[in-house]
Amino acid sequence: MADSNCIFCAIAEGRIPATIVHQDADVVAFKDIAPQAPVHLVLVPREHFAGLNELTPDRARLVGRIALVAKELAEAQGCAANGWRLVSNCGPDAGQTVFHLHFHVLGGRPMAGKMV
Ligand code: 5GP
Repeated sequence: MADSNCIFCAIAEGRIPATIVHQDADVVAFKDIAPQAPVHLVLVPREHFAGLNELTPDRARLVGRIALVAKELAEAQGCAANGWRLVSNCGPDAGQTVFHLHFHVLGGRPMAGKMV
């Protein structure tokens, strides 16, 4: 289920440090190490798979869980009123650099017209 070479598995299992802002049986969320916005969180399923290309019907509920946690964290971080973004980069052309499914929560600055 976990990949011993994966940095996000290591964070989810507490083997390397990160600022964890949420964890439950399915989902772990932490602050991005190189934030692109005043609020920049990364949400991952505990289950290791590379990204949205590997999404299956069995795994689809994880995306719903992540979206719900994202909403709750965006509210807690004060982004709900002005808006925030939920992004998952899939594959090299999208700029994916860590091949464990993850979603970015970005907020705290205007992003209209910009993709990131
Ligand atoms: P991607 O480019 O794959 O969509 O996003 C990967 C994100 O993970 C990047 O925004 C990058 O800054 C973040 N990241 C990579 N390694 C680490 C790490 O060790 N700790 C934390 N907190 N974030 C990381």
